[in-house]
Amino acid sequence: MATETPTRALFMLFGGTGDLALRKLYPAIFNLYKKGSLSKHFALVGLSRKELTDDEFRAKIIDSIASETDDKAQAEEFASHFYWKSHDVNNLGHYAELRTIADELDKKYELEGNRVFYVSMAPQFFGIVAKNLKDQHVLSENGGFNRLVIEKPFGRDYESAKKLNDELTSAFNENQIYRIDHYLGKETTQAIPVIRFGNPIIESVWNQNFIKNVQVTLAESLGVEDRAGYYDTAGNLRDMIQNHALQIVSYLAMDEPNTFVDTEIRKEKVKALESMEIYDAEGVKQNFVRGQYGAGDGSPAYRDEPGVPKDSNNDTYAAGKIVFNNPRWGKTPFYVRSGKKLAAKQGRIDIEFKKPLVDIFAKGTKQPQELQSNVLSLLIDPKVGIVLNINTKNSEQGFHTETVDLDYVQSPERAAEVPLPYERLFHDILNGDGTYFASWPEVAAAWKFVDPIQHLWDATQPDFPNYKPGSMGPKAADDLLARDGNSWYYPNVR
Ligand code: NAD
Repeated sequence: MATETPTRALFMLFGGTGDLALRKLYPAIFNLYKKGSLSKHFALVGLSRKELTDDEFRAKIIDSIASETDDKAQAEEFASHFYWKSHDVNNLGHYAELRTIADELDKKYELEGNRVFYVSMAPQFFGIVAKNLKDQHVLSENGGFNRLVIEKPFGRDYESAKKLNDELTSAFNENQIYRIDHYLGKETTQAIPVIRFGNPIIESVWNQNFIKNVQVTLAESLGVEDRAGYYDTAGNLRDMIQNHALQIVSYLAMDEPNTFVDTEIRKEKVKALESMEIYDAEGVKQNFVRGQYGAGDGSPAYRDEPGVPKDSNNDTYAAGKIVFNNPRWGKTPFYVRSGKKLAAKQGRIDIEFKKPLVDIFAKGTKQPQELQSNVLSLLIDPKVGIVLNINTKNSEQGFHTETVDLDYVQSPERAAEVPLPYERLFHDILNGDGTYFASWPEVAAAWKFVDPIQHLWDATQPDFPNYKPGSMGPKAADDLLARDGNSWYYPNVR
């Protein structure tokens, strides 16, 4: 990361001893501190109902950043900027105390009134925290910035998301709200606009005339683990497709923004998402597939996982086809899929190009050959990279075509230097850059697309379980593509 002027800021972290804060958020803030994006002019107040002393909290911070540094003195100096405040989100008196603490720390660290409120708690608290912060005047009023960061999930359908958004926007403006989607902090997602708009050889063919289909795969090999309480009320469609997959799709589908600034990019993302065809019940049946994993290879079925009801009809897998009603995409389908207990952890985008209109090798040569589609793959994780599969002639005698990969895969050394998603996202929050955060119109459009699918699924009985652990999901997801004359490129990559 280039050297820059450090940002002055006070963080208030609601859910300060939560799993996310300890595993991801403090290491991310520490890395920004190490790299100079934060300096001595920052402080953080951790908040939850727990009673902790500042020293106890600082010991947790030092523990939480242990994997990021061997420098004990630096870790201690960093942790000395951390303060603890026991806080109940419904207690107005606590906000008044918080205001006093914030003003004191502002003065002590010369923070110029810059405040970041990070709500890393269960979603039912998002709205009330925002409201109380505003009503109890915890926001700075001296010209510094006030930014509100909201974790996922952002609602469980359009109505609940709108209600939450109304609550947030009664206290903060849209441009002060940063809705976290950690897939947008990943290297490959962030590279999509550059790969597209920075390369005429790619952008010139990025449309329905040349692209046969687009495939977004967000596969996990793990099962529900210990998250049944949340996951069984959400399901894969809500937990992965509505947010992560559709956000990735929006960067792939959007038109070129006038300039590469968040306001312009958001306009184009919204335009793309709002042009998705919304399905009626028949359309949902034709275009979306759900799944739930059964038992296999010594691992339990989803319904036998701890905390999951024996009759759960929750989807641990979802796949579907998105059609854009716009001039760029016409009828080029975008397929998305995501699921648990799949063959491998694999986040990737595969773009299959159309074959030549006339295949001169198919006939007329002594040994007729069939060309393959070109496929451009953008690897998200665990590997980060770009692979272009193209046709060429093999090197043997005679004439035979074959495909080869032109590939760039990030080296382990480079990967070690790449900032983690939450570090990038914090960096952008400090800089007031909303490029890699979901705006409200985007979230709204995504829910409007997903709601009819979820409604139909809630109203009809599935035949679960319908896929084996270690597979790539239900057969119906293969049939979905086969009906269009397509097939999933992964895992049968060439
Ligand atoms: P958690 O349950 O570990 O932490 C929640 C925190 O809220 C705790 O510090 C708890 O003490 C505090 N809290 C609960 N009720 C309170 C109240 N009435 N007043 C004050 N404090 C209260 O949760 P988590 O896993 O850290 O998740 C936090 C947020 O991040 C959630 O929105 C979650 O969906 C999201 N998220 C978490 C992960 C993850 O890997 N843990 C990943 C993605 C998103």
